[in-house]
Amino acid sequence: MVVLGIESTAHTASVGIVDERAEVLGLASDMYRPPRGGIHPREAANHHVDLLPGLVEQALERARVRTNEVDAVAFAQGPGLGPCLRAGATVARVLSLAWNRPLVPVNHCVAHVEIARVLSGLDDPLLLYASGGNTQVIAYGRGRYRVLGETLDIGVGNFLDKLWIGLGGTFPGGPALEAEAKAGTELYSLPYSVHGMDVAFSGMLTATLALHAKGTPRPDLAYSVETTAYAMLTEITERALAHRGRNSVVLGGGVACNERLRGMVRAMVEGRGGTMFAPPRSLCVDNGAMIAWTGHLAHRAGVSVGVPDSAVLPRQRTDLVTTPWRAG
Ligand code: AMP
Ligand code: MG
Repeated sequence: MVVLGIESTAHTASVGIVDERAEVLGLASDMYRPPRGGIHPREAANHHVDLLPGLVEQALERARVRTNEVDAVAFAQGPGLGPCLRAGATVARVLSLAWNRPLVPVNHCVAHVEIARVLSGLDDPLLLYASGGNTQVIAYGRGRYRVLGETLDIGVGNFLDKLWIGLGGTFPGGPALEAEAKAGTELYSLPYSVHGMDVAFSGMLTATLALHAKGTPRPDLAYSVETTAYAMLTEITERALAHRGRNSVVLGGGVACNERLRGMVRAMVEGRGGTMFAPPRSLCVDNGAMIAWTGHLAHRAGVSVGVPDSAVLPRQRTDLVTTPWRAG
């Protein structure tokens, strides 16, 4: 069985084709990069509208799958930017109608968990989901994925992006800060904002920009920001593990590509005698393969929607989505 999945929640338009053993047969992605500043939802959506048809063709070609071999069409229903979500959902509806195949809605955050879970072989890991718009610690419990901790203001990736733009760079900030931080030597004290299992980043953003205005070297700022922000994420992940009596962690989201964050979480988890797994970069960032794989799980459990019931849900919460494939 083959499912085609469409991801378009934010800046990435992506189409993945996955079989019933979670093998990624084909993946084609393109990220919208604003010429300056952050993402404008409508401009990102226009990018997705322009590129998605070609990405569908590319993914099918790479997978060597013919259109009549696709058994279901999955799409990211939420959460995300409304115009971007609608672009992907529209393409998914068209394919579902044209090919006469079921249309399967998927929650984007749950998809990050599911692809990491199947790739890791871990049965019931905790997920640290660190991306542009989302920062959550997620664990399964009683019928759905529960958000144990999350950001109280902006996602960690958005924080890194905003900061880097404030330091004179361009989007995306995370990878650029990672490179810059390698030359940093001095650790500046920045607001460390952990509240139980939640975190906040806006205080660190203000404080770092203030240090920048005073002429503090940029590599030191990058090093200090990475150290502080990733320690916060590691701390809430550890607290969640302790509360849930778990010992394995998987990572997801673009920020989870960061080697420093991976190293800190790995050291914490292994120190507790557990296992840490991070998917390869192409499946850590937003991608259509995770939507296709979660579409598989949902479809097998009997989930599908008609076009009239396929509206996108920009504010859909991880913990409001049922996951019948995990029942029992
Ligand atoms: P996503 O929203 O999951 O597609 O991830 C995009 C976010 O990941 C952006 O905010 C990027 O700045 C961030 N990002 C990507 N690569 C890295 C990296 N190596 N280190 C830190 N952040 C990163
Ligand atoms: Mg994501």
